[in-house]
Amino acid sequence: MDLAYTPEEQAFREEVRAWLNDHLDPALATKVREDQRLSRDDIQGWAKVLGKKGWLAYGWPQAFGGPGWGAVQKHVFAEELARAGAPAIVPFGPVMVAPVIMAFGTPEQQKRFLPGIASGEVWWSQGYSEPGSGSDLASVKTRAERVGDHYIVNGQKTWTTLGQHGDWMFNLVRTSNEGKPQTGISFLLLDMKSPGVTVRPIKLLDGECEVNEVFFDNVKVPADQLIGEENKGWTYAKHLLAHERTNIADVNRSKRELERLKRIAKQEGVWEDQRFRDQIALLEVDIVALEMLVLRVLSAEKSGKNSLDIAGLLKIKGSEIQQRYTELMMLAAGPYSLPFIQEAMAAGWQGDFPGGEVANAPLASRYFNMRKTTIYGGSNEVQRNIVAQTLLG
Ligand SMILES: Cc1cc2nc3c(=O)[nH]c(=O)nc-3n(C[C@H](O)[C@H](O)[C@H](O)COP(=O)(O)OP(=O)(O)OC[C@H]3O[C@@H](n4cnc5c(N)ncnc54)[C@H](O)[C@@H]3O)c2cc1C
Repeated sequence: MDLAYTPEEQAFREEVRAWLNDHLDPALATKVREDQRLSRDDIQGWAKVLGKKGWLAYGWPQAFGGPGWGAVQKHVFAEELARAGAPAIVPFGPVMVAPVIMAFGTPEQQKRFLPGIASGEVWWSQGYSEPGSGSDLASVKTRAERVGDHYIVNGQKTWTTLGQHGDWMFNLVRTSNEGKPQTGISFLLLDMKSPGVTVRPIKLLDGECEVNEVFFDNVKVPADQLIGEENKGWTYAKHLLAHERTNIADVNRSKRELERLKRIAKQEGVWEDQRFRDQIALLEVDIVALEMLVLRVLSAEKSGKNSLDIAGLLKIKGSEIQQRYTELMMLAAGPYSLPFIQEAMAAGWQGDFPGGEVANAPLASRYFNMRKTTIYGGSNEVQRNIVAQTLLG
């Protein structure tokens, strides 16, 4: 395994950095760095800027309109985005459903759906989880009944991230009750503006409405929006989950936030506390180890090995690191990290320290928000079971 970057890869990094310098609005980057609330326009506006350059679909092969980058280029690109303070790419379209459409969709479906994903015009949501069907995903009950050239969908999804902005949704639906639960699931694409779709926001601990409940009441979905074969959706769902879990590790954001943690600790004086510095050092070691693991995965990908096997491991380590740095930031900032009313923080009455560079606000909301990371994308307890089965046998 060779982990050193080649001169070509270094040149690629410079190219990406220069482009970001020219195209990323500094005000938007500040909002990202300070964890201020991002509007739909902030997120989608940036997605469209990337889309115009052909970089929103940065993981795609050229055959489908992507740049055809190798694994290391993808990593360097993601690293530079995080370093620059670019809004995170909402993964549901370009990272999650697109690979499924490429691998299992018809040429017509590819032509119809991929361009809107690559350009950032169409916002996708993920309709996997239901009340009672999270870890036990194969038990999904949302029913899709074939009637002529349509499916009629009835049921409920939950925890639909940013579903309030969604244009389209990919869904696991039950098309059969025969045999094992996994064998009666299909993968259906659904227009969220269809009659019978209701989106209801869920208010979370951090005061945000980041997730939603989505109800389907006799929603008519054209049968040509079924991906692959009826009742084979479980296979496509698993393909997508591996991409989701690798994406959650997000080591690049953790690297950026580690530097922020150090700045806060210095400013608040806890840097002088040996035991606090030990915590930061332990975190840094784990982040470096995670990055090495990511690079090992990329290196294996280069040589054609299936790196997605250890997606669960990346998810476990990455999500735990994300929770640890938010916890240490809260500890470092103490009372300054409260309260967590984002509008008030944006107005500057809290966390407004001399020098301005370190805005502690809204650390508490970030802390609360990050409790999700060990749950979503499949809880870490369940990931440990999967890793044990896959790697240890
Ligand atoms: C912020 C957030 C965003 C999300 N976004 C989406 C989204 O956009 N789309 C979507 O479809 N889903 C989304 N989810 C849902 C997420 O995938 C589920 O919450 C997750 O899979 C866990 O399922 P559950 O909530 O039903 O918990 P449960 O499955 O009920 O689990 C409860 C607890 O039991 C443990 N447990 C369950 N089974 C086992 C087992 N076999 N062994 C050991 N422990 C076990 C779990 O680890 C957990 O601690 C999101 C969740 C969150 C929190």
